Amino acid sequence: VDVAGIRVAVAGAGLGGLCLAQGVRRAGAEVTVYERDGGLAGRRQGYRLHVDARAGLALQQCLPPELFAAFQATCGQAGTRLTVVSERLRVLKEVTASDPAADRYAPGTLSTSVNRLTLREVLATGLDDAIVFGREVTGYHADDEGVRVRFADGGETSADVVVGADGVNSAVRRQYLPAAEPSDNGRRCVYGKTPLGPDAADLLPAALDAGFTAVIGAGLGMATGLVRFRNRPEQVAGVRLSAAEDYLMWGLAGAGEQFGVPDERLLAMSPAELHALSATLIRNWHPDLRRLHAMAEIEETFAVRIRTSPVIDAWQPSRVTVLGDAIHAMSPAGGSGANTALQDAATLTRALASVIEGGDITAAIGQYEQQMREYGYAAVATSAKAEAEQGTLRNPLMSWLFRRVARA
Ligand SMILES: Cc1cc2nc3c(=O)[nH]c(=O)nc-3n(C[C@H](O)[C@H](O)[C@H](O)COP(=O)(O)OP(=O)(O)OC[C@H]3O[C@@H](n4cnc5c(N)ncnc54)[C@H](O)[C@@H]3O)c2cc1C
Repeated sequence: VDVAGIRVAVAGAGLGGLCLAQGVRRAGAEVTVYERDGGLAGRRQGYRLHVDARAGLALQQCLPPELFAAFQATCGQAGTRLTVVSERLRVLKEVTASDPAADRYAPGTLSTSVNRLTLREVLATGLDDAIVFGREVTGYHADDEGVRVRFADGGETSADVVVGADGVNSAVRRQYLPAAEPSDNGRRCVYGKTPLGPDAADLLPAALDAGFTAVIGAGLGMATGLVRFRNRPEQVAGVRLSAAEDYLMWGLAGAGEQFGVPDERLLAMSPAELHALSATLIRNWHPDLRRLHAMAEIEETFAVRIRTSPVIDAWQPSRVTVLGDAIHAMSPAGGSGANTALQDAATLTRALASVIEGGDITAAIGQYEQQMREYGYAAVATSAKAEAEQGTLRNPLMSWLFRRVARA
């Protein structure tokens, strides 16, 4: 076997696929990422991701040091507390950061936010020759010798390993593990983004200014999170990142019925219609919240169906594998999907690095899959619990608070 020349084909240039590409390339593999979209700056992904130590350690492992430094430089400033407020902005509960002494930007104690496009751009840096945009993977054919990957344009390519990092609607998963199709729990979320120009910044109520806030309305809840860049992405030396401004991300979440329009209609609405609908739904909320909502970049508004992967039995490993949302999609309520996808990328990188050092491909993939199922399914369960308790609350502590507050 030509161990030095292991060729890895990755479907999807999302968070997990790009992090994997960085990691295995550093380990000495030949990697190509096939991305359906024409570029990274696709539509409506301008939201905030919460990142924790899982992401910190994975990125530190997979990225060259200068790119890891660029990630740290472009994170959002860590919030100082979580606040639960009523829709009239009455503060119901405040929680300060658990360990104020911890370095919230260091890999092992990371706890802050990041702008999705900025993170993807950092992850794609240096991979220009390894990413093929506008190429949709439709399936594959695998045998003991290798894998043929098939594309929507009719073309094919061969590889030693194929990784489905193609997200919640994964084509690779659909063929490989059809029982792992995620289900829709009926909850919906309308996301939007309000730039923090001087006017909006002046309007920010103290609760929202502290980082992450859960607004508890009747029926619908809203989560808000600030992204105040530590450094403007476009000003960080050594990388070429798109310009981005500080913003407030907001998400109005609840059971589909709470949105007051038929589901098919909700999911087909234009950004302007979704913005107008959400304005109506919060019309009795505090004027500051309504004004911040009104100042949104309307074109950035979009609706998301919350989907969850089922736990399936362990399968026989092969040269085909999956990572991230393709295999363990989960509610955003846990703030865990991106963190877990990056953790997968780092775990799979270590497994494939052992192949480069002479190990067996399917055994290495089996090892990755065993670990991934364990922490991945645990994250799905934790996120489902957070979602069930209150769709917009971010972690078990917040959910606990919500129950306390709801009882009071
Ligand atoms: C609104 C929202 C807010 C979220 N907030 C958080 C948060 O705060 N913290 C957190 O940890 N997680 C969060 N998540 C979850 C997180 O975004 C996902 O879990 C994460 O992006 C999964 O990474 P991935 O690499 O598996 O998939 P993705 O990042 O979805 O990437 C998949 C890529 O594959 C491409 N693709 C799809 N099909 C094909 C194909 N057939 N061929 C080629 N390419 C294909 C897609 O275009 C995409 O680029 C949130 C999700 C949403 C929707």
